[in-house]
Amino acid sequence: MKNREELESLFEKHGYTDFKWMEPKDIIVSQWVRLKCTFGCPEYGRNASCPPNVPSVSECRQFFDEYSTAVTFHFKKTFEKPEDRHAWSRGVNQALLKLERELFLGGYRKAFMLTMDSCSICADCPGARGECKSPKLARPTPESMAVDVYATVRQYGYPIEVLRDYSEQMNRYAFLMIE
Ligand code: SF4
Repeated sequence: MKNREELESLFEKHGYTDFKWMEPKDIIVSQWVRLKCTFGCPEYGRNASCPPNVPSVSECRQFFDEYSTAVTFHFKKTFEKPEDRHAWSRGVNQALLKLERELFLGGYRKAFMLTMDSCSICADCPGARGECKSPKLARPTPESMAVDVYATVRQYGYPIEVLRDYSEQMNRYAFLMIE
């Protein structure tokens, strides 16, 4: 197994320089996050990696408690054309999975990436986990695992605000669970 410095070199090799180590116990899981997914998000029931295709809130807490180490990766971006954000998110998510794969093959059997944005590999997602067209690559986001991303990353000094329009800078976060 690598030490933290070696892992940081690996992250940098994959192009990630803006990240912070986290204590899994600091990852804040809240019922209200699941309610926000259930009521108000157009992806509920339409994305096979989002609620209700994910563990219960208490199972999410259990999942995070089974790890000794976590990392958050910060992505900031502003778009001139809002529609460009989908292709950008897809590329970021796919690159993150390559890092997860390398860690897994390097002996971190529990390596699991919670992607920066909801899975958008397929143009027409069937919306049901069992019907996912690319099950090896689909991952949930921290939010779909009931994480209060705002409160969690602010503990580490990272910026995150509710955006009022697409001209404002987005601050997005992926979480990597490692052990
Ligand atoms: S891989 Fe495709 S089918 Fe599976 S969750 Fe992602 S978009 Fe949906």
